[in-house]
Amino acid sequence: MTSTRSAVFVAVDIGATHARVGIFSSTSATKPLSHQVFKISRKYRTDLKRLTETITELIAGRTLAGVAIAVAGAVSTDRKKILASGNLTDWVGKPLAADVRKQLKCPVQLINDAEASALGEALLRKERTAFWHIIWGTGVGGSLVTYMDRQPVVTAGELGHQILDPHDTQKPDGCGQSGCLESFAGGAGIERRYGKPAADLSEREWQEVCESMAQGLYNLVISRPTESVVFAGGVALNQRKRVQIVERLLRKNLKMVPAPTLRVTSHRESAALVGALATLA
Ligand SMILES: [Zn+2]
Repeated sequence: MTSTRSAVFVAVDIGATHARVGIFSSTSATKPLSHQVFKISRKYRTDLKRLTETITELIAGRTLAGVAIAVAGAVSTDRKKILASGNLTDWVGKPLAADVRKQLKCPVQLINDAEASALGEALLRKERTAFWHIIWGTGVGGSLVTYMDRQPVVTAGELGHQILDPHDTQKPDGCGQSGCLESFAGGAGIERRYGKPAADLSEREWQEVCESMAQGLYNLVISRPTESVVFAGGVALNQRKRVQIVERLLRKNLKMVPAPTLRVTSHRESAALVGALATLA
């Protein structure tokens, strides 16, 4: 038995309600050595303490080579702070990377969670062809993933806020514009529009939601055709047959470019951790 153990890397995914922490043997690992999930309070100081304690417990005395944190929010260009977030409002502007670094004495950087999960998905799949990565959950977001020298390149945008109906009378969501894709198809938008959660929608209402999602994908694929679209997020994971309906609608409407195949991620929570981890390379 050796007395020195090799250094480990930590990837964290902080969502709206839970934080997931994984310990990895290298920045290109796809499975954590161990992991833990804890509930967050959304209060910065409380969650920061819990986060550093959880990491310390998981690394169990091993040397820590770096920490990457995926967060549900816009991240500063130096990857050190959260600039804006719908859920983690108390975390906005706080020196998150510096605070974790101070406690754990290793390099720390942040990444937007949608970007992390697109990058992770790209690294975990076998194919190396461009795809749209769509997060269909409470909100609608996503990125275009392309490959350069077989390495994935993630281009993030605000595709959920493309306008589908400029004359929509529903009050605008956080983006300030009425009639965006997210307001029709996102979980929160569905609740505002229909007065009930997505799980309680009637077949006719689902048809409307699927038509909106298909229209949104139409706009993406017509401007940048891809062979496939990969979905992540709660609505997609819980409503797989709706994704099939969206695929049929898209196939029917899309005439100018070949229709992509649509599928739901098979990596669920691991993609964001793997993507965040890769940024430490
Ligand atoms: Zn919007």
